[in-house]
Amino acid sequence: MGKVHTVGGEIDPDQLGVTYCHEHLATMPGQHLLEKMGGDDLILEDMAKSAEELEIFKRAGGQAVVDCTTTEYGRGADKLAGLQRDTGVNIICSTGHIMEGYWRGVEDIAGRSPESLLDEMLTDLTDAIPDSDGVRAGVIKLGSSKDEVLPEEDKMIRAGVEAQKRTGAPIQTHTTAGTIPLEQVRIFDDAGADPEHTMIGHLDRRLDWDDHLAVAKAGYRLGFDCISKEHYQPEAQRIEFIKRLVEEGHEDQIMLSGDIARRSYMTAYGGGPGYSYILWRFIPWLHQVGVPESATRKMVVDNPKAFYAWKDV
Ligand SMILES: [Zn+2]
Repeated sequence: MGKVHTVGGEIDPDQLGVTYCHEHLATMPGQHLLEKMGGDDLILEDMAKSAEELEIFKRAGGQAVVDCTTTEYGRGADKLAGLQRDTGVNIICSTGHIMEGYWRGVEDIAGRSPESLLDEMLTDLTDAIPDSDGVRAGVIKLGSSKDEVLPEEDKMIRAGVEAQKRTGAPIQTHTTAGTIPLEQVRIFDDAGADPEHTMIGHLDRRLDWDDHLAVAKAGYRLGFDCISKEHYQPEAQRIEFIKRLVEEGHEDQIMLSGDIARRSYMTAYGGGPGYSYILWRFIPWLHQVGVPESATRKMVVDNPKAFYAWKDV
């Protein structure tokens, strides 16, 4: 097993600890998103507030957070490094690009060659994120639009798989509204991605049992990373899907997170559910319906540990 690459440097996988696999601690979305999706609520620039949220996370038993913010969403590599230094929470930051709806007007992905996209990721992963104080990315973020993979997204995904092959870094995805996870799997299989180091994300935005089971059977990791968002799917159904996946023998593939990317979702801003919810409410709920503690421990400790450790290449 290789090392886990945090914003503060490489650590042994054993040191990672209780992990939320998809969050945002420092963001600045493009203007088109701010106008469409909620203005200042989406901007996370006050690192004192993010640190406060991480202190709440620590009190709940949390030890590591993956920040899935990319450049088009205002990634703040040095800010994240500062948060890890100040709070002691392990933070992994992302390279790659999410999908057209996010990079529109911010990053010209359509106009770039696969080689330049690959070079950008390799620099972030193995050298340093440009304009940062030597901070490196630890995971590759990729994604697709609602119900389709646009040509520039296909190009981006394939460049991301190449970056994985060169470095051994893990890949995790954004599926828009949870759609077409199997199309992502098809492209990953075709491009030769390593399923054990590739997580299909936002699956719990669309609870389609056949799709979930097919992703699991293909050997990919499953991101249940919209936890608490009842406006997407009722929490009880999320619980039911995880229970069924565990019963089908897929507990080694599931990871959990809340994708808390708004001030109004953070306890530090007076909002909710905040960073304690999954550890204090959601996981006990899973236990209550019969999911064993050995399985939930895998979802937040052992699976992230194996997934975020770079493969030796
Ligand atoms: Zn996100």
